[in-house]
Amino acid sequence: ARATGRTATSGPGATRDGTPVRLLANVGTVADAVAAAGRDVEGVGLFRTEVLFLDRTVAPSEAEQADAYAAVLAAFGERPVVVRTLDAGADKPLTFTAGEPEVNPALGRRGLRTAARFPDLLDDQLRALRRAADRTGTEPWVMAPMVATAAEARWFADRAHAAGLPTAGAMVEVPAAALRAGAIAATCDFLSIGTNDLTQFVMATDRAAGSLAELLDPWQPAVLDLIAATGAAGRSAGIPVGVCGEAARDPLLALVLVGSGATSLSMAAPAVPAVRSALSRTDLTTCTAMAAAARTAESAAHARAAVEAMADPDL
Ligand code: PEP
Ligand code: MG
Repeated sequence: ARATGRTATSGPGATRDGTPVRLLANVGTVADAVAAAGRDVEGVGLFRTEVLFLDRTVAPSEAEQADAYAAVLAAFGERPVVVRTLDAGADKPLTFTAGEPEVNPALGRRGLRTAARFPDLLDDQLRALRRAADRTGTEPWVMAPMVATAAEARWFADRAHAAGLPTAGAMVEVPAAALRAGAIAATCDFLSIGTNDLTQFVMATDRAAGSLAELLDPWQPAVLDLIAATGAAGRSAGIPVGVCGEAARDPLLALVLVGSGATSLSMAAPAVPAVRSALSRTDLTTCTAMAAAARTAESAAHARAAVEAMADPDL
């Protein structure tokens, strides 16, 4: 199995047999972006814009946002950047969007639900991003967090397109969105799976609860089923499907994600080399077989063990 194998240590991501898989960085600030841009990554799969909004009494102006977004886009130049609109509310409360206190903030008004209540906040952000794109001569992609329905995805994509941003996507991090991924894919230009929230919601396990780590594991076959459903929906619709949650940084799990239909993987930039190397040693058909094996396992631990047994021993 190793006869043709040489581990890739740089350059674009691809399986051993040459299927491209973009290896992207998650960033939260301009400084993060500048640091990530200096590394061997193909772009940004998740720019968490909420960092700019936290600890403020009023939202940053369109001009201030445009400056920050332009700095990130300029750092990456020709490389693609996926910008996520404000994912605050609930556990990351904003004083200027405060509503009634919530008993279960993880299930409350957060992500795109905040934008639905304050559409001007979203429109300012979309306009700022368009300005930043014009200034830097780039075409950023934009995506919405916490999409639960196809109607929400359509509402967001229409608004982004109207703001002059032609590539608008939906995050799949609510189980309902994964179950209806085909309907959501029909409304937008790409999907991006957020495995952190998806795992929390599928397993009914608070992502901040360390003591429940066994359940809060993206190797859980139930989580993998929803990822596979999303990958299949994206493939049928002919649109890209990224993964931008923490799962993408685990080299073995990255193989399962690719075997489930992911076309790009986004992670903390320092995690990219190990994922690149694992992919370069594994054929796409093996990734597909690994995904199938993991999904028939009865636990997260068994799923991982099954995949490990199929992997190149040098991974
Ligand atoms: C996720 O939920 O997986 C995700 C990428 O978003 P965040 O971690 O910012 O909620
Ligand atoms: Mg999330």
